[in-house]
Amino acid sequence: MTTTEPHTAGTTTPKGPTPTTGARQGSAPERPELNRLARRVDLLDDDRPQHTVMSPIDGSALGLMPIGTVDDVTAALAGARRAQRMWAETSTKERAAILADYADLVLDHREELCDLIQLENGKSRAWAFEEVADTTITARYYAKKGPRLLAETKRASAFPGLITTIERRVPKGVVGIISPWNYPLSLAVGDAIAALMAGNGVVIKPDSQTPYTALRAVELLEQAGLPKGLMRVVTGQGRVVGTAIIEGADYVMFTGSSETGAKIAQQSAARLVDFSAELGGKNAMVITDDIDIERAARLATIACFANSGQLCISIERIYVLQEVAARFMDAFAEATAALRLGAEVGYGPEMGPLASQDQLDKMREHVTDAVAKGARVLSGGNARPDLAPWFHEPTILVDVPENADVYRGETFGPLVSIYPVANVDEAVAAANDTEYGLNASVLCNNASRGRAIARRLQAGTVNVNDGYAAAWSSLDAPMGGVGVSGVGRRHGAVGLLKYTESQNISTRSHLLDLVQRPSHPKEYAERLSAALRLQKYLPF
Ligand code: NAD
Repeated sequence: MTTTEPHTAGTTTPKGPTPTTGARQGSAPERPELNRLARRVDLLDDDRPQHTVMSPIDGSALGLMPIGTVDDVTAALAGARRAQRMWAETSTKERAAILADYADLVLDHREELCDLIQLENGKSRAWAFEEVADTTITARYYAKKGPRLLAETKRASAFPGLITTIERRVPKGVVGIISPWNYPLSLAVGDAIAALMAGNGVVIKPDSQTPYTALRAVELLEQAGLPKGLMRVVTGQGRVVGTAIIEGADYVMFTGSSETGAKIAQQSAARLVDFSAELGGKNAMVITDDIDIERAARLATIACFANSGQLCISIERIYVLQEVAARFMDAFAEATAALRLGAEVGYGPEMGPLASQDQLDKMREHVTDAVAKGARVLSGGNARPDLAPWFHEPTILVDVPENADVYRGETFGPLVSIYPVANVDEAVAAANDTEYGLNASVLCNNASRGRAIARRLQAGTVNVNDGYAAAWSSLDAPMGGVGVSGVGRRHGAVGLLKYTESQNISTRSHLLDLVQRPSHPKEYAERLSAALRLQKYLPF
C-alpha cells in the first residue's frame, strides 16, 4: 500500500566517494545517539549513500541512515550463518535465560525505547508503551515455553518396541525478517525473539522510516547475552535489501501490505523456502442490541484510533444493530471528539500524527472520495497541519455507499465507517463480505452470545468485548490472517516451531532381526496382515 522507501521519505546523501545516481546532498542532524545507532547497521564498508529519516512529530530530519546493497545483505547473511552454527549448539535453557534478561532490559529501558518509537513513528506514548509491553510479554512467553516446545519428543511408531521414534526440532538456519514502520519495536523484534529461541540467526530489514528502534533493540539483546553478529540489521530499500534477504534466507517472516506479501510469497516459493506473511485487514466490529452504550463507545474509540489507526488489527467497519445505532453513534462521536490530539514526545496526547505524507494522502483520498459519493462525516474529517505536518483527525463516516473506496479498501489510518444493520445475521454476512480476514471484534453484554457470534466471523482473531488487544496479547494462542490477510501464524507454539524443521529419528530394534522377512511376497503380506490386526490393540 504506502511506501516509505528511502527515495520518497527523505533526501539521500553521498557519504563516500561513489554515490548512487540521483543521491542528493543533505546535512546530518545533530542527534549523537541516533547517529551512533546508524553506525551499527551491518554494512561491508562505510561507502554508502544515505537516507534522511524524518520525524512525524514535526517533520524534522532525525538522522542519516545508510542505504544497504545486495552485497551487504549477502555478507550479513553469511555472518549470521557463521554465528548461528555455535548458537544452535547452545541449550534451549541458555537461550531462554538471555530472552528473560532481555525482557527485564526492555522494561528497564522503557522510557528510552518509547522516545525512539515516538520520534520515528509519531504515535502517542500509550501506544509506544504497548510495544514495550508486547515485547516484554513475547520474550517472557518464549523464554518460559520455548525449552519445552523445542525438546526432543518421543513419538509412537507403527510397531512399538520394534521401532522407537523421536522428533527433533532443528533450527532453519538464518531467518530473514522484513518489517513495517507502524510497530517499530514489536514487529521488528517480536518475531526475532521466537526465531532466536528456536536456534536461528536473524537478518532484519526494518522499514526505512523506523530503523532506530530496531537497532537499539538488537543492542539490548546483545547486552542480555545474545552473541554479537547473530542478529544483524541491514537498512535500505525493500525491493533491493528485502529481495536480497528473500533470496538468501532459510525462512522469511514478512509483515506489511498484502500487495508486497504476494510478491514475497512468489519469491520464496521459487526457492522452495518457507515463509509467513502477516498482511493487511479491513477489520469489522459487530455491536449487539444489549450493549452498554458508553462502554461500547469507549472500546470503539481505542479499537479504531489506537496508534492513529495505523494498526493492522484496527477496526475500520462497525456493524451496529438498528435498535442502538443512533445512541451508539452519538456516544462514539462524542468520545472521538474528546480525544486529546497532539504531536510530542511525552505522555500528553491520546492520538498522534500519521507516520508519513503517504499515509496522510491515503487518508485524505478515502475521506474525500467517500464524501463525494454521498457519505457523511460524523466526527473529524480534516487534516490538522497545525498539529503536525501529517496529522489527520480521527474520523467517523456514515452512509458510506458501496462504490466508495473506503467501503472495501484498507485505509490504515484513523478512519471508520458505521453501518446500522437489522440483525446479527446481517452483521455477520456484511462483516464476512471482504477478501481480508485478519481481526474482528464483537461488543456484546452477554459474553457467551458474543463468542457464538465470534465463531461465525471469518478472521484469524476475534475479540469479544475488546478491539484487538485481548487476542494479540494472548501469546499462547496463534494469531494471523485468512484470505489476503496472511499466510501462517505468529505467537503460540506454531509461532516458534515454524522457525524449525522437524527431524524424525527412528531406530529399528535388533528384535526385528528375529522376525525374518519371508522370501515369498504372499507369505510376507499375510504375516504383515496378522501384525496389523494386532496393532488395533496398541496405543498410537
Ligand atoms: P509495505 O508492504 O509497503 O512494506 C513493509 C516492508 O516491506 C517494508 O520494510 C518495506 O521496505 C518492505 N518492502 C516493500 N517492498 C518490498 C519488496 N518488493 N520486497 C521486499 N520487501 C519489500 O507495507 P506498509 O504499507 O509499509 O505497511 C502497512 C501494511 O502492513 C498495511 O497493509 C498493514 O495492514 C500491514 N500490516 C500487517 C500487520 C500484521 O501483523 N498482519 C502488522 C502491521 C502492518
